[in-house]
Amino acid sequence: MRASLSQRQLSLSKQYEGAIIIAKLYFRYGTMDSSKSARLIMDAHEYTQRGEMVFPVKPVVDTRSKKGVIESRVGISVKCFDLEKDYNIFHHVHNLVVTQGIKLSCVFVDEAQFLTYSHVLQLRLIADNLDIPVMCYGLKTDFTGHLFAGSTALFELANRFEEVKTMCRVDGCRHKAMFNVRYKNGVPIFKGTVVKVGNIKEEENKEYYVVKCSKHFLSDYAQYSNKGIKK
Ligand SMILES: [Zn+2]
Repeated sequence: MRASLSQRQLSLSKQYEGAIIIAKLYFRYGTMDSSKSARLIMDAHEYTQRGEMVFPVKPVVDTRSKKGVIESRVGISVKCFDLEKDYNIFHHVHNLVVTQGIKLSCVFVDEAQFLTYSHVLQLRLIADNLDIPVMCYGLKTDFTGHLFAGSTALFELANRFEEVKTMCRVDGCRHKAMFNVRYKNGVPIFKGTVVKVGNIKEEENKEYYVVKCSKHFLSDYAQYSNKGIKK
């Protein structure tokens, strides 16, 4: 690998030799239906299998989702701490680690798109000041194609990014899904409240989501705009 580095990269890497590597704040982002929660649960399980302690967290939003547990559609789950909007997660983890002496190997955060900016700053402090890696999993954009507040903060403050990929669900399309298209009564819609429970099964609800590539997302949006469909 070193041979492929430029002279500038080599000189920079030399500067960092001997520097103390601190824990990182990760953002693993994707669309709905891309198995992010399943990845989180399996990643957390790897730590606990080695006898290490982890701290799974989920922000509380006004949805029907269950409290105290992170669940995946594939049927696996892990217990979690419910993070309220104004709660300081850095103080909480600091208390566990410094005051109570609990050794935590990693903090895991599900539904990270619903974090507040303050939460993301606090997670940054957990990595920087307590030297505990923080892995956040969440959606990049909402059904209108814009970044969630929590995702914006993570793109600003995290230092490792990984896209959790899945395919566009339009028949025959082989492109990567980039957007979550919201359907109502069988038709894509682009207006309405942003925070909605992620239902990806048509039969369970009148409103549901289909993940699509940028081309199919934009063609849905063009059709929606041309027809002047209102919610
Ligand atoms: Zn497509």
